[in-house]
Amino acid sequence: MRLIVPIKQVPETSNVKMDPETGTMLREGVESIINPLDLYAIETAIRLKENYGGEIVAVSMGPINSKEALKEAIAMGCDDAVLLSDKLFAGADTFATSYTLAKAIERLKPFDLLICGERATDGDTAQVGPGIAALLGLPLATFTSNIELEDGVIKATRLIEGGYEVLSLPRPCVVTVVKEISDPRLPTLRGKQRAKKMELKMWGAQDIEADTSNIGLNGSPTRVIKIFTPKVTREGKIVEVKDERSLQQAVDEIISLLKEKLVI
Ligand SMILES: Cc1cc2nc3c(=O)[nH]c(=O)nc-3n(C[C@H](O)[C@H](O)[C@H](O)COP(=O)(O)OP(=O)(O)OC[C@H]3O[C@@H](n4cnc5c(N)ncnc54)[C@H](O)[C@@H]3O)c2cc1C
Repeated sequence: MRLIVPIKQVPETSNVKMDPETGTMLREGVESIINPLDLYAIETAIRLKENYGGEIVAVSMGPINSKEALKEAIAMGCDDAVLLSDKLFAGADTFATSYTLAKAIERLKPFDLLICGERATDGDTAQVGPGIAALLGLPLATFTSNIELEDGVIKATRLIEGGYEVLSLPRPCVVTVVKEISDPRLPTLRGKQRAKKMELKMWGAQDIEADTSNIGLNGSPTRVIKIFTPKVTREGKIVEVKDERSLQQAVDEIISLLKEKLVI
């Protein structure tokens, strides 16, 4: 099986801090790591390779330092890695990101299965996996908690509200995986040594024959107008009970207040 795993490098914190003035992410002093949910995608690919044979290619779009995430993927057990890095990719929204990855994945054909994390901890849209599937015209299973190969077909078990749904998908196809699918392994010393020596492939816009009107900020149909944390304020009203006699009065007052607010 040839497996492709798109991975994203993200800041090492789920509590992403934003500059209230500029609306951009404050990255200073924050270490970068592989998107935690992508570790589950890598682990899933490694287990499929262990069971059915084949190879795994990790691919990431990002700045040069995203190499570190790809090296970690190699150290965990991926066979090859491609970094998509080009000034022209900067400022991409989820469409432009999906398009860029889809163009690179076309170049990595043929493949059997593309495994994405459910979502990235920074952008948090969960749009990129489905975006790639749509652009490549491939079948998709999201929220996948188990994958098996049965009679040459991918059997994906999806987490749905109150239960599971099992889908059969012809190859090639795309799945996005949830934490329940596996426990990611740690990189081995041998893996780390292999990753250190390995020359990663670096592709720019020309290498993937990208239409420049679909990449980076220019190719992004959405714009971030403002990013802010909503302020939660509560009006609040304190109904005091001074003595036993005023208790019933307080209860009546609360009931009428709740009725007024249409709560009861
Ligand atoms: C107008 C606009 C401008 C933006 N400008 C910038 C910017 O200048 N710099 C910036 O860093 N971000 C920018 N972003 C954010 C950027 O679009 C998202 O980080 C990116 O599209 C991925 O979306 P997400 O984080 O929600 O990933 P999700 O859709 O939540 O990720 C799901 C899965 O898709 C895969 N995936 C996602 N992103 C990548 C990737 N880059 N490489 C490989 N696999 C991936 C992973 O498997 C991941 O688990 C911008 C967004 C908008 C809307």
